[in-house]
This record gives sequence, structure tokens and C-alpha cells, in this order.
Amino acid sequence: MSPAHPAVFLDRDGTMIEDVGSLDRVERLAFFPWTVDAIRALNRAGFPVVVVTNQAGVARGWFAEAVLDEIHRAMARTLEAGGAKVAAYYYCPHHPQGTVAEYARSCDCRKPARGLIDRAARDLDLDPARSFVVGDKWLDVRLGRAVGARTVLVRTGTGAVEEMRRPDDVMADAIVDNLAAAASWMLMNRSLKSDI
Ligand SMILES: [Mg+2]
Ligand SMILES: [Zn+2]
Repeated sequence: MSPAHPAVFLDRDGTMIEDVGSLDRVERLAFFPWTVDAIRALNRAGFPVVVVTNQAGVARGWFAEAVLDEIHRAMARTLEAGGAKVAAYYYCPHHPQGTVAEYARSCDCRKPARGLIDRAARDLDLDPARSFVVGDKWLDVRLGRAVGARTVLVRTGTGAVEEMRRPDDVMADAIVDNLAAAASWMLMNRSLKSDI
């Protein structure tokens, strides 16, 4: 069996697509203009790209899981048209203060908890410790550090505000303007820790 593979784990809202507050219908989906190219470049360099996203709107009753599936299918179509691919979409639908009983609980998959990445690693044979995590919030960076990955904070979404409010106990390996710059940084730095 081949050893587990490095991957790039991407936050969704504010990192790949516009953060519209609560993306509750597919008509509001808006990719950043560089996202498809950035993911295609990562794919070509051999990285599986995996989405890991908190979607507490499900627990809050704002939209159903079926809407998430529809949004992720629409994202996959746009990516495919541009020669890019996300290997899988993992989301946490839970929230401790949710109003929908079946999702209203604490869980091990709401970022910064590592459940989504652990599930992806098992399903897809990935090695988080040789991977990257990219997001627009410190909780994405915390997730990356928790699994031993290298981390990139992007300034899109809430990233520019997050950058100015860095908690003392967390630091990203890189802070860059957007996912295009993050992809360049990862491709330049991939050999420092991984062997692909
Ligand atoms: Mg985000
Ligand atoms: Zn969860």
C-alpha cells in the first residue's frame, strides 16, 4: 500500500467563495475569480484538495443539508469546467445552541475540532501532518495546527479583520491576500516538509 498522501484542506466561505453571511441557496454562490485556477494548480502539483467547512446554519434551521449538497454540486460543476477538482466536501452541520434537535449538540467535527480532517484522512488515505490548511479565520489555523499541518490565513472573507486581531496563542505559517497567493506559497514551500 502506498503511504498516506499530503493534501490541501480548504475552508469554503471567505476562502474559496464569497462569504455572504449564510449561503442558504445556490443562487447566492459566488466564487472568487482566482479560485478555480488556484485549485487547478494544486491538483496539477499532485495535491488532492478537500473542503472542510462549518455549516451551523443547518443546526440553526436556516437551510437543509440538501441545500448544502446542491451548493457543493454546483461548485463541483464550476471547478470541473475549469479543469479543477475538489476530492470531497466535508461539513459540520452541528451547533451546541442549534434549534434543530438532531444537529443541536457539541461534536468533534466543528472547527477548530479536527473531526472533519480525521474523517477525510481515513476516507481518502491522506496524511494531515504533511498537508496544508487554508482559511480566513484563526479557527482554520487552529485546526491546521491541531493536525500538524502547515497553515495559511487568507485576507479574503474575514481574514483581513482576523489578521488584525490575532490571539496570542496562534500563528499561521503564512498570511497572504487570497487563495491564489496561498496556492503559490504552498507550491513553493511544499518540499520543506513533504516528499512529493
Ligand atoms: Mg471561512
Ligand atoms: Zn459537527
